[in-house]
Amino acid sequence: MHAADTPPLIALRGIRKRYGGGTQPEVGVLHGIDLTIRAGEFVALVGASGSGKSTLMHVLGCLDRATAGTYHINGHDVTTLDADALAWLRREAFGFVFQGYHLIASETASENVQVPAIYAGMPDVERAARAAALLDRLGLADKQGNRPNQLSGGQQQRVSIARALMNGGRILLADEPTGALDTRSGAEVMALLHELADAGHTIILITHDRDVAAQARRVIEIRDGVIVADSNESVDAGNETVDGSNHTVDAGNDTVAYHNERPLDPASSPTRRTLPDLDLRDAATTSGASLQADLREALRTAWRGMRMNRGRTGLTLLGIIIGVASVIVMLAIGEGARQKVVEQMGSMGTTIMYLNSQPPATGGPAGQLTPDDLEAVQALPEIRRVMPVIGDPITVRRGNAERQNYVFAANQDMPAIHHWKLVAGRYFTDAEDRALAPLVVLGIGAKNHFFRDTPDPLGRQVLIGNSPFEVIGVLAERGADSGAQYYDDMVFIPYRSGRARVYQAQTQPDYVVVEAMSSQDVLPAEKAMNDLLIARHGGRKDFAIGNAAARLQAEAATRNSMTMMLGLIAAVSLLVGGIGVMNVMLMTVRERTREIGIRVATGARQRDILRQFLTEAVLLTVTGGVMGLIAGLAIGAGLIALGMQLVFSVLAMLGAFLCAVITGLVFGFMPARTAARLDPVIALAGEA
Ligand code: ADP
Ligand code: MG
Repeated sequence: MHAADTPPLIALRGIRKRYGGGTQPEVGVLHGIDLTIRAGEFVALVGASGSGKSTLMHVLGCLDRATAGTYHINGHDVTTLDADALAWLRREAFGFVFQGYHLIASETASENVQVPAIYAGMPDVERAARAAALLDRLGLADKQGNRPNQLSGGQQQRVSIARALMNGGRILLADEPTGALDTRSGAEVMALLHELADAGHTIILITHDRDVAAQARRVIEIRDGVIVADSNESVDAGNETVDGSNHTVDAGNDTVAYHNERPLDPASSPTRRTLPDLDLRDAATTSGASLQADLREALRTAWRGMRMNRGRTGLTLLGIIIGVASVIVMLAIGEGARQKVVEQMGSMGTTIMYLNSQPPATGGPAGQLTPDDLEAVQALPEIRRVMPVIGDPITVRRGNAERQNYVFAANQDMPAIHHWKLVAGRYFTDAEDRALAPLVVLGIGAKNHFFRDTPDPLGRQVLIGNSPFEVIGVLAERGADSGAQYYDDMVFIPYRSGRARVYQAQTQPDYVVVEAMSSQDVLPAEKAMNDLLIARHGGRKDFAIGNAAARLQAEAATRNSMTMMLGLIAAVSLLVGGIGVMNVMLMTVRERTREIGIRVATGARQRDILRQFLTEAVLLTVTGGVMGLIAGLAIGAGLIALGMQLVFSVLAMLGAFLCAVITGLVFGFMPARTAARLDPVIALAGEA
C-alpha cells in the first residue's frame, strides 16, 4: 500500500529510558527499543506489569522524553522538538485513552471531550457540535451534560475515546483501556477500537492481558524494557493491510449496538488526511488557541473552580473584600477629616494670629500693647496687616429703636481680614480713622433692627453710647461664624474714633488680629513678633499670641499621619488577602494536578496552563475587588448617614481595585508557574 520510500508513521531506534540519577538510585526502564509502526496499524503492546509499557507509551505520545535513542514521526526527528512543538504534536497527532479514564471531574462529558479542541483553537460552536456528534456516535447522546461521577466506567471510557478523537486522533494511544472495566464494557471498548482501526486510525493498545492483545492485528511483547516478540515482524517490510486474522471480537454482537448501526464514518473524520497532513513544520507556526478563546475558557474553568469550592473561595474573598473595602473607607475618612480642617482654616483664615496682653507666666502685671508696638509689628516683613480690636455691648439708639449692641472698633482692614463684602455704601478709610471720623458700618442684622422701614440707611445717624455716628455702609450677610458670635448684629466703627468717642476708658485693644503674609509665613511671623515684643517689653513676655492656623495645621498633620496609618493597615489587609489567594491557588494546583496532566496530554502548552491558573487567581481577586468596592461604598454610606464626614475618591477606588488585580497576578504567579511546570507524566499519576 505504501510506497517503499514513504517514511513509517512511527520509528523508534534504540530508545532507552532511565529514571533517577543524581541523589536517587538510577533505574533503567527501557533498554533499547526498536519499533516501527505504519499508519493504520492496530498494534497491541503486551507485557507484564512493570515491564515498561506505560513508560513506552509516554515516550510515544510525547509526554515524556527518552533518555537515549531516536524517535521519528513521519520521518521528522521528535527528540529535537521544543515543548510547544511537542504540545502541538500531542494535540494534532495523538489521542490518549487511559486505564483510569482521566476525565476532568468538574466538567461535563461534552466539556471533557472539547478540551483538546480548545487548545487547538477550534471555534466554540464547531467544538460543541463536534463533541456532540462524537458522543452521539459513541452512544452517549443523552449523557452530554453528565459529570464523570454520573457515568459508569464504560461510559467514562467512551467519553475519553471521544476526547481522543476530538482533534482527529490520528494515533490513538490506549493504555490498559479495558483494565478497569467489566467484561462487557471492555468488549464494547475493544469493538470501538476495531471500528476506529477500520476507519483508518493508527491504534496502539497497551495491555497486560494476552486475550485483549490477541484482538489486535499485530502483537508486540515487551519484557523488562525490551521487545521480545513481534507477531508481524514482516510488517516492517511494508504490508500493513494484512487482515487481522486474530480478530476475535464478534462484530455482530448485539450488545454493542452502536457498532453496527452507526459506524464511525471515515469520511467525516479527519483521520484520512493523516499522513501528508501531519507536517511537523506546522508545529512552529500553529499558535493553538487564540488569546481571547483561551481567556474565555480560563474564565469559565476559573468560575467553575470558585463555585466548586464555595467555602474556601468565600473565605479568601472575604479577605480581599475586607482589604479593598478598608482601603476605600479609611481613605474616605481621612480625606473627609482633611477637608473639614481645610474648611475650618478657610473660614478662620490660614494666616491669622491673635495678639493680646496677658500677665507673664513668671508673675507680675499684664503688659501694654501700645500703638508703637503695633507699628513695629506691622513693620515686620512677614506681617501683612495688624488690626487692633475693641468690642463690647454698648447702648445703640436710633429713633425709638434701642438695644445693647456689640460695637466692634477696628481699623479699615476688617473687611479684608474677614473676607467680608458690603451690600451698600463703603467701609471707612485709614485717613478717616486717623481723623477720628464718627462713621459706622452696620451688620445686616443691625441694619434690619435699627432701620426696619428705611430702605436706605446711608447718611443717617445712630447714637453709640452718647456719640452720633453716620452710617456709611452695610455689610453682607455672614451668618453665625464658627466663633459662635453673631456677626450680622454688630456695628463697626473706626478704631481710633471708637477709642476717642466710645471706649474712652480702654487703654489698649482687647486683642489685635495679625495677618501673616502667607500661610507659610505664619510660624516665622509668630516667632518674629514674639521676639520683637519681648525686646520692646524689657524682656518680659507679658502678652500672648494665639495661632489658630498653626493649631489647625498641627491638627491636619496628625490627621494626615492617621490617614497614612489607616492606609497602611488597609494595605496590610490587602497583602493578607493576597497571601490568602496564593494559599488557595497552591491548594487548587495541588488538587487539580491530574487535571493539569490531562490538559497537557491533550495539547495544552505550558503557557496555556500558566494563563489558566493566573486567570483563576485574578478572577478571584477581581471578584473580591468588586465586592470590596461595593462593601466599601455601603459602609461609607452608613457612616455618612451616622453624620461622619467622608469623601470618596475615585482614585482610591481605582487604586484599590488595581491593587486587587495586581495582588492576583503577583500572588497567583507562583502557583500558576508551579502548575505549568508540572511534569505531565507525574501529573497524570497524581491523586484526584
Ligand atoms: P507498566 O506500564 O508496564 O506496568 P511502567 O512503564 O509503568 O510499567 O513502569 C516500568 C518500570 O519503571 C516500573 O518498574 C516502575 O517502577 C518504573 N518507573 C515508572 N515510572 C518511574 C519513575 N518516575 N521513577 C522511577 N521509576 C519509575
Ligand atoms: Mg502501565
